[in-house]
Amino acid sequence: MNSNNCPKCEKELDWQGHYHCSDCDERFNKVGFCPDCQAQLEKLQACGAANYFCNSCNELKSKSRVRFEFQQVS
Ligand SMILES: [Zn+2]
Ligand SMILES: [Zn+2]
Repeated sequence: MNSNNCPKCEKELDWQGHYHCSDCDERFNKVGFCPDCQAQLEKLQACGAANYFCNSCNELKSKSRVRFEFQQVS
């Protein structure tokens, strides 16, 4: 359910403060997008849990509905 795989080669990513694919030798950020308006969500850390806030809808989004994408760090 919560697997983090490389968007290029599908290999499972390592977590080293950022997501890293050892095969591609690329770094990735995990970015959440609003399921309603497709805007990039702001990640809020509260009480050890991550919440995702949409500045366009002006409301928190349920993590189960958030669409996640890995973006390559250049
Ligand atoms: Zn890869
Ligand atoms: Zn939104």
